[in-house]
Amino acid sequence: MDEVRDDRHPATADLRLPRVLAALADPVRLTIVRALAEVGESPGTELQRLARLQIGRTTFSHHQRVLREAGIVRERIHGPQRILSLRLADLDACFPGLLKAILDSPSALTYECDAGCGHRWSADVEGHRMPPLPGGCPGAGWRLAAETPHA
Ligand SMILES: [Zn+2]
Repeated sequence: MDEVRDDRHPATADLRLPRVLAALADPVRLTIVRALAEVGESPGTELQRLARLQIGRTTFSHHQRVLREAGIVRERIHGPQRILSLRLADLDACFPGLLKAILDSPSALTYECDAGCGHRWSADVEGHRMPPLPGGCPGAGWRLAAETPHA
């Protein structure tokens, strides 16, 4: 295991599930973590662009700090930049399979009309209200689609 020992990152033995879950409960931070999982490691500024986050630098820094303090993200100082990466091995040592399960979970659920005529609707994790079925659809409501593609 690649142990982190400095005062900016919690040691692996100090990682706590409630803190990790609280950090991941925020949709912006979850988006950052997903983007980071895809690229492996990235400077913060680049990551913000990759994740298509419409947030200011200060807000991004705040989220970055929460993720670092929860033990999810590691910051490596490289010249003027901070290179971010996920502490996958550390997290897996403490909470086996947790991060993979989260990363493998769809970020949005897809619904289809129960008449099976192909009407679909995607709900994001923030839980918007379901819209009425499209006009002309004979269905009585939406049901969770059998396969929910990753967003
Ligand atoms: Zn329909």
